[in-house]
Amino acid sequence: MSGSDLAEFRDTVRRWCRAHVPAEWRTTQTGATDAEFVAFQRDWFQQLRATGYAVPHWPREYGGGIPIPEQIVLYQELAAHDAPRLVLAFVAIHHAAATLLAAGTDEQKQRHLPAILDGELWVQGFSEPDAGSDLAALRTAARRDGGDYVVTGQKVWASGAQYADWCLLLARTDPDVPKRKGISYFLMDMRSPGIEVRPIRQATGESHFCEIFLDEVRIPAANLIGAENRGWQLAQQTLGAERGLTMLELAERLGNAGFRWLVEECRKPGPLGQRPVDDAQIADRLARLEIELAGLRALCRDLVERHDAGAVGPADASVVKLYYSELLQRMTDFGVEVCGLPGQAVLRKPMSGGWESGAWVLDFVGSWEWTVPGGSSEIQRTIIGERGLGLPREPAGA
Ligand SMILES: Cc1cc2nc3c(=O)[nH]c(=O)nc-3n(C[C@H](O)[C@H](O)[C@H](O)COP(=O)(O)OP(=O)(O)OC[C@H]3O[C@@H](n4cnc5c(N)ncnc54)[C@H](O)[C@@H]3O)c2cc1C
Repeated sequence: MSGSDLAEFRDTVRRWCRAHVPAEWRTTQTGATDAEFVAFQRDWFQQLRATGYAVPHWPREYGGGIPIPEQIVLYQELAAHDAPRLVLAFVAIHHAAATLLAAGTDEQKQRHLPAILDGELWVQGFSEPDAGSDLAALRTAARRDGGDYVVTGQKVWASGAQYADWCLLLARTDPDVPKRKGISYFLMDMRSPGIEVRPIRQATGESHFCEIFLDEVRIPAANLIGAENRGWQLAQQTLGAERGLTMLELAERLGNAGFRWLVEECRKPGPLGQRPVDDAQIADRLARLEIELAGLRALCRDLVERHDAGAVGPADASVVKLYYSELLQRMTDFGVEVCGLPGQAVLRKPMSGGWESGAWVLDFVGSWEWTVPGGSSEIQRTIIGERGLGLPREPAGA
């Protein structure tokens, strides 16, 4: 696509954003009830869907097909207009779709992809109490019984399980082979008998994620995705869907709304009339953060473009995730410092956003979440060392 076509696309998205991004969403979503949050998210998803912007990364036949350069423009414009994020549908449109497209039967794809567009919600049921970083140690067991698998076990840290219709579930189908070779991947209906979901209350007051207890849950064999005992490889693909474009969106948002809040905070006069930004050290740190943000956005764009060209290195996504999560922490930490004591009094932040709300204490506490899911920072460093830099491998069992 030529530069002028891309500029025209940007204009179209800008006009759409001006007409559709709800101006007051940060106010109305602050202190929103669960029901208000879900209704708002569903409505916003359908608005984006109507114009093809909800799933631009999907194949054309399923309602996507927007080329990568336009997708980059789309996320830049949504961030620039401070649009709400599709937090509720996140797992459905990224993880579930990537898994179905990679390994789903035609029937599975036809059943679920259009339903996701109609609002079906998904949760990722991978982690267990003793299987997070060492995911292959999972113990939830599935045994074949006639036309079903019968599943018993426990999942934890399952984001959005309280809202989900379906679950991407990993379970052990063969306990007698090396641990990565005995795991299968299922599509589990969250309304099946034997499932109990318990939300976990977090330090921010939200219940972003849940425990899921599974007691003799029957999953039809037709809901196995990929081959039995071959779930591990597919799970790696699902996790890969967390990176790339989703990182680009987050980086753009941090560089837009996130940085804007920080600058505003630095310009606010304190009790004696002095503004933090007039302090040379503060101004210097602000400038450094802006440079780091530009670096993050460039890294993300590069990752997405190389992903499209099939040229992503084995540690590239880890570099971006590590850099994003640590920059987010430095920014929110700085926000807490600049806003001082009054900032400690802000105890509510809007739902439907990211980790940047301008409620600095909550943003800082929330920023720690990002250094854990999808592989903690320590694990990312190990990947960068071993696979990116070719350093000796971590001793097994360490
Ligand atoms: C906000 C959030 C959302 C999440 N959403 C989901 C979800 O939707 N679905 C889901 O299945 N899971 C989800 N998770 C779980 C997440 O994937 C796991 O928490 C993560 O993989 C880490 O596992 P763990 O909590 O068991 O920690 P552990 O593996 O016990 O690790 C504890 C600490 O030890 C370090 N460590 C462990 N092994 C090594 C090693 N070999 N070398 C160096 N350091 C090591 C870790 O880096 C970490 O700092 C979510 C977590 C969070 C915080």
